[in-house]
Amino acid sequence: MPHYAVKKIGIIERYQEYLPVTDRTPIISLNEGNTPLILAEALPVELGLKNIRIYYKFEGLNPTGSFKDRGMTLAISKAVEAGSKAVMCASTGNTSASAAAYACRCGLKCFVLIPEGKIAKGKLLQAYRYGAKVIMVEGNFDEALEIVKEMTQDGKITLVNSINPFRIEGQKTGAFEIVDDLGDAPEYHAIPVGNAGNITAYWKGYKEYKKAGKSEKLPKMLGFQAAGSAPIVLGKRVEKPETLATAIRIGNPASWQGATAARDESGGLIDSVTDEEITRAYRFIAEREGVFAEPASAAGVAGVIKLAQKNFFKEGTRIVITLTGSGLKDPDFALSFEDPIFKVKSTVKAVKEVIE
Ligand SMILES: *Cc1c(COP(=O)(O)O)cnc(C)c1O
Repeated sequence: MPHYAVKKIGIIERYQEYLPVTDRTPIISLNEGNTPLILAEALPVELGLKNIRIYYKFEGLNPTGSFKDRGMTLAISKAVEAGSKAVMCASTGNTSASAAAYACRCGLKCFVLIPEGKIAKGKLLQAYRYGAKVIMVEGNFDEALEIVKEMTQDGKITLVNSINPFRIEGQKTGAFEIVDDLGDAPEYHAIPVGNAGNITAYWKGYKEYKKAGKSEKLPKMLGFQAAGSAPIVLGKRVEKPETLATAIRIGNPASWQGATAARDESGGLIDSVTDEEITRAYRFIAEREGVFAEPASAAGVAGVIKLAQKNFFKEGTRIVITLTGSGLKDPDFALSFEDPIFKVKSTVKAVKEVIE
């Protein structure tokens, strides 16, 4: 049966000249990428910022609800090209959801190692529904990653954590899309930092696009870790990382060097934000902007708020904040605010009484 004319919008088709693919690379795609750059309306007003534009790059609208899909489409495509039959990752949740989806799409086995009890429900249920074998380890993410590294060393199973270089290559397309949308790079790019693959990837993308003549500037990269999991800010690994933003609950980032290089080469910074600041930012963008992102994503917003309050940003500039994942990923956190429940008789009168 003829295939109807599908618009090619996956990141590999769209940006293949910048990616390590050939005619022999099978493209395993779920039409990831092409996510919206949403203009912030309430936030600049709240912060009293004049003549400064803030945009949310909303990665929660990727096929599995996080930016991880950009890297995973390439990592899985290259694994299939290399003849692999199985993939494995350690995950705080979104990597496993994405790996499971792309793996099942092409018949690869998928094994995911998850730190016990510290994974948001939405992510766990995705890994199961996409048919992965989910293994909970009695330890944290960093320990799980060590196990995965050892088990994939002989090459029989492909590692799809972000130390797989194809993950970073795919993820850099986020920067390409921003430049394509804005016509140039923004002055500042704010982003949460966990394992630090994404800040590394965006910086790589911005540099490559500039070299290709697609942009005139490079942004200053502003990375934000959670205060209880801030190894790069502290300059040393954190043995027992803590934060409610589970996606960035990482004590020993795999791409530490990439993150500090992005910071230093761009003239940016890496700072930390508290769980309270993350929570306030999380609620602000949902309740005032209509943009629902997960707690880790809000770390970037919290960081921009913190810097704006110190008059960090220059007038006439643009700030892009990557919102890394969907708010639907973490329903337990979303429902932890003692929202009032109005239970009334099923009459107009009773409802009127409540809304007045
Ligand atoms: C993976 C992830 C991060 C952290 O990205 P790194 O590349 O590990 O720094 C942040 N937010 C969300 C929602 C994630 O899934």
